[in-house]
Amino acid sequence: MFTMDELSREIAGCTKCRLHLNRTNTVPGEGNPSARVMFIGEAPGADEDKQGRPFVGKAGQLLDKALNALDFNREKNFYICNICKCRPENNRTPADDEAEACLPFLRNQVALVKPKIIVCLGATSLKYIIDKQARITSVRGTWFERKGYYITATFHPAALFRDESKKRLFWEDLKKVKEKYDEIISFEQKKNL
Ligand code: SF4
Repeated sequence: MFTMDELSREIAGCTKCRLHLNRTNTVPGEGNPSARVMFIGEAPGADEDKQGRPFVGKAGQLLDKALNALDFNREKNFYICNICKCRPENNRTPADDEAEACLPFLRNQVALVKPKIIVCLGATSLKYIIDKQARITSVRGTWFERKGYYITATFHPAALFRDESKKRLFWEDLKKVKEKYDEIISFEQKKNL
């Protein structure tokens, strides 16, 4: 089993799919490496590719702002990463073979962080984590229990810039994540009494 640093080094040298050709930096993920909550998006954009950090552009800042309002922050409460660790050119959706090539890294990250809650941000994450046929508009805010994880999905924050009406739903979904998180923490505290 890798450590998170070893995994990040492995990702930095990866050439398993064509996305390595245009990247400036790989974007493995960041946050609390033993967080209860893991957010998973699609792939890095231009800002993320430049900095080697996930969700640092406009969409990431919006997500952080919403999560901070719920008293959630990267250093303490969650880990955040993407299905693909390299930027697809022009921010296109990753192709199936690219996502499949990269998924073993994500599986290792989940195994290392051991989150209780996994939140899929957007359709690509939903597709590879919950169900290939599912639509984000129908399953968002719903909980799935698999292999000991509570898994849910909401819109990718970038989608909120294209459609303002999604903001309220996104906020409702994040509040449900916080409620589930509080439930888990309180259960763990009672167990340890
Ligand atoms: Fe490797 Fe993933 Fe980058 Fe493809 S996207 S080159 S599989 S790290």
